[in-house]
Amino acid sequence: CAVFGIWGAGSDEDNPSRAAAITATGLHALQHRGQEACGIVAFDKSQFLVHRAVGLVGDVFGKGKADRGGAGPLTRLVGSSAIGHTRYATSGKGAGPASIRNIQPLWTDLDETGGFALAHNGNLTNAMALKAELRAEGRRFQSTSDTEVILDLMARSRERRLANRLIDALSRVVGAYSIVGLSAKKLIGVRDPSGVRPLVLGRLDNAWIICSETCALDIVGATFVRDIEPGEMIVIDEDGMQTRRIGAAPRRFCIFEYIYFSRPDSFVEGRNVYSIRQAIGRELAKEETHSADMVIPVPDSGTPAAVGYAKESGIPFELAVTRSQLAGRSFIEPDQESREQVVRRKLNVNRDMVRGKSVVLVDDSIVRGTTSKILVKMFRDAGVREVHMRIASPPTRSPCYYGVDTPSKGELIFNQYANLEQMERHLGVDSLRYLSVPGMYRAVGETDIPEDETECGAKAGYCDACFTGKYPIRLVDNSEGSVNQ
Ligand code: 5GP
Ligand code: SF4
Ligand code: MG
Repeated sequence: CAVFGIWGAGSDEDNPSRAAAITATGLHALQHRGQEACGIVAFDKSQFLVHRAVGLVGDVFGKGKADRGGAGPLTRLVGSSAIGHTRYATSGKGAGPASIRNIQPLWTDLDETGGFALAHNGNLTNAMALKAELRAEGRRFQSTSDTEVILDLMARSRERRLANRLIDALSRVVGAYSIVGLSAKKLIGVRDPSGVRPLVLGRLDNAWIICSETCALDIVGATFVRDIEPGEMIVIDEDGMQTRRIGAAPRRFCIFEYIYFSRPDSFVEGRNVYSIRQAIGRELAKEETHSADMVIPVPDSGTPAAVGYAKESGIPFELAVTRSQLAGRSFIEPDQESREQVVRRKLNVNRDMVRGKSVVLVDDSIVRGTTSKILVKMFRDAGVREVHMRIASPPTRSPCYYGVDTPSKGELIFNQYANLEQMERHLGVDSLRYLSVPGMYRAVGETDIPEDETECGAKAGYCDACFTGKYPIRLVDNSEGSVNQ
């Protein structure tokens, strides 16, 4: 998911919904983090104004909407502060009628402090346990999302001040969260003590912005101030910006943000994602290069790593797979048949370029194997001589419980085969190689890597549980995998 919040954007007669409009633009830049649904909550001096719907930001809030109807949802979202969210379901799934209630921001009325709206990226690992506990006390939940637990805990808190209530609520939850919250007077941003998901602070003239990635700051014309620290809470109000500490834990930033999740033009923890992806591709080539006629990326997510691989190996880089810009993401589809349909509509191999050739095909990751299996078949049908598949991450072996929607252990294709040769045969490739765990860490600039691969994450300060099975944050609701605190 993506979060975006703005405070102090000004609101005048010419543009009464300036904060909401900037939020929509910011969410548009963060669309890659969630494409199922989106929402914006604005505050207009006396009340919260809300619009949430299933669909892409452009469709839900786009300019076309306002032009056609003359009164798109943005024109209603008046006020000088707003927060927004794009949703990528990792908790409280289901496209049925219940899902509209899961669309964020969520909001609630707190007696003494007034209303509070909240948008969350990440996933709580003890939400089910907390909900069961709260239900036993007679609480009712409107959504199946884990985020509602935070609002509920805030409502029950005995603290009087808003920020203290939020800190109190967060002291009960376990898991990953980068949150923006909005009250009548304050914009709050907070990151879990391990700092699993990114969150950055920016300025646009006199306004403050808190959002998931720096690409959104670029797009709205804001300047980057700094990353919000793990375990840091930022409170912005009339008196300016204040920072507080909500807890401390060893840093465990999600390494998969570098591999796939973040946008390549973003700076994450001070480093440009595109350059890291290129470095990952270089590491992959250093570990093993195969002679071939060309290096081909699986667009778009495999492209930066393929550029790095081609530079390091000296093999020419070619865009021999074309991606339709209109097709959606295969990953998000609910069943295997529709995922395959999307891959077929999305990708096509340029026969003329690959006929009789030996190719290195680079993708960022293999999850269920849907993309690779179909794509390799397309290469075979095009008359390719050899396909050498190179993956710019270690094998995905364990599900993520911290905000990325990896399927169960059994659905992960790497776990379905006894060895690499069997998997090569299943995918129809001449060879398949993955990046090693130490190679992945070298690419992010870590040179002092422990020999035991499963210790690398702890040493370097990253979560890499989907690649090593070592979970750095307690899994209360699920027990798959070994927990390594
Ligand atoms: P597969 O087709 O093997 O199931 O998935 C691998 C493809 O999906 C890769 O091309 C990768 O870019 C993309 N991918 C990997 N992880 C995720 C994820 O968590 N979400 C989405 N939407 N795509 C992913
Ligand atoms: Fe990121 Fe993987 Fe850890 Fe999930 S399990 S937070 S995707 S590194
Ligand atoms: Mg991809």
